[in-house]
Amino acid sequence: MRILWTGVAALALAMPATAQTLGGEVEKQMPSLMAIYKDLHANPELSFMEVRSAGILAAEARKLGYKVTEKVGGTGIVAVLENGPGPVVLVRADMDGLPVTEQTGLAGASKVRVTTKEGVETGVMHACGHDTHMTAWVGVARLMAANKAKWSGTLVMIGQPAEERGAGARMMLADGLYTRFPKPQYALAFHDAAQFPAGKIGYTPGYALANVDSVDISVKGVGGHGAYPQTTKDPIVLASRIVGALQTLVSREISPLDSAVVTVGSFHAGAKHNIISDEAKLQLTVRSYSDEVRDHLLDGIARIAKGEAIAAGIPDDKMPVVTVNKDEYTPSTFNTPEFTEEMAAFLKTSFGDDRVVQMPPVMGGEDFSRFGREDKSIKSLIVWVGGVPQAEYDAAKKEGRTLPSLHSPFWAPDAPAVISTATEALTAMTLKLMAKK
Ligand SMILES: [Zn+2]
Ligand SMILES: [Zn+2]
Repeated sequence: MRILWTGVAALALAMPATAQTLGGEVEKQMPSLMAIYKDLHANPELSFMEVRSAGILAAEARKLGYKVTEKVGGTGIVAVLENGPGPVVLVRADMDGLPVTEQTGLAGASKVRVTTKEGVETGVMHACGHDTHMTAWVGVARLMAANKAKWSGTLVMIGQPAEERGAGARMMLADGLYTRFPKPQYALAFHDAAQFPAGKIGYTPGYALANVDSVDISVKGVGGHGAYPQTTKDPIVLASRIVGALQTLVSREISPLDSAVVTVGSFHAGAKHNIISDEAKLQLTVRSYSDEVRDHLLDGIARIAKGEAIAAGIPDDKMPVVTVNKDEYTPSTFNTPEFTEEMAAFLKTSFGDDRVVQMPPVMGGEDFSRFGREDKSIKSLIVWVGGVPQAEYDAAKKEGRTLPSLHSPFWAPDAPAVISTATEALTAMTLKLMAKK
C-alpha cells in the first residue's frame, strides 16, 4: 500500500504547477487522513446507525470553523462554511457500512459484529468503501478551510446516512436540507470503483447509475394434497409462469436501445413434497434509467402477474398482490452532461488524460441522484475513483481473473490512492466552481 501511495505521489510531481500545489497540500494531509481512515474502517456502522462516524466528521468540521448541524435526516450531518458572496456548492459523503463479514485478512480489517433488527448476527464491513468517502470528505473540508482566500461562496458539506438502504438522501431532504440550509447550485460526490486501477478518475455524462426498484409479488393459490392437483390451484406452477413471462418484458416490450433489468432474485413456496401450498412469494429487483421505462416495467409486472393468474383460473379474490417498495426506491443518477464534460476537461488539465477516463453507465444505484433531482437547475456530478491496487489489477488482467466487486468481503481498495485522488479532485472542482473572480 505504502509503495503504491509513493507511486501516486510521484505522479503528482509530473503535474502542472497549480495542481502540484494542491497535490502537495493533499500529500501533507495524508498521514493524518490515513489515521482517520483506519479508525473508520475498523469501526463500520450499519445504515441508520452511523452515530460514531457522523461524530468524527462533525468534530473535524467544527475544528475547522464550519457551522455543524447534527441529526439531519436521522444520523446525517451538515457542515456549512460561509465565505462571502458566490455560488453554493454541496459536497457529499455517505457513511454506512454493510452486513458483510470482512475476509480481506488485512491487519486493519473490521472485526465488528452486530445483531440486526431482524435478529441476524453478522459482521459489519465498509465493503462499499464509504470509509474512503468520509476520509476524503475530511480532506476536502480541511483544504477548503485552508484555502479560503482563493474562493468566495458557501460550501455545504454533508455526511449522509443509509445510502445502502436507498433512504439517507431522501431523509435528509425531507428534514429540510434545502430549506434549513443554503440550497446548492452544484452537487459533487465520488464513489470508489472496484473495476479500474487505483488513482484513476472515471466520469459518465448523463445517466450513470440506474433506477432501482424492489418489487414483491405474493402469488396466491388454493392449497391441497399433492396427489389431487385437480382440487387445487397450484401457486408454484402459476408463479413459475409469471417468472417466465416476466422475461419478455425487457426482451419484447422495451426498445433494444433502452437499458432495463427485471431479475427475480427470490422464489419461496411450499413446505413438503406432497402438499400443494396456497402461496408463492417472489422478490424482484427492477432497473432502468428513464422514468418512462421504469413506469412501463412496473406496470408490466402487475399486468403479467394478473394476466397469468386469470389464465390459471385463479378466483378474483385471490389475484396476485404486487407491491413496489417505495421506501427502497433509488432514482437513477443523472450527471448534468455539459457540466460533467466541463469538469472532466478541467480534471484532465490537472491529472492528465490517462488518469481521467470516460466510463460507461452501470445498472447499480446511488441515492446521490436525489440531490440533483430535487431541482432541475442544480448541476450534479458523481465521479468514480479507481481503487484496485495497480499490481492486483495487472495480475488479474493477465490471468483472466475476476476482481472482487464492491460489497465483496474481499474488497480491499488501495485506500491512500483513493483518498488522495478523491480529496484532490473534489477540492479542485469545488475551488474552480467558487474561484474568486
Ligand atoms: Zn454499496
Ligand atoms: Zn456505495
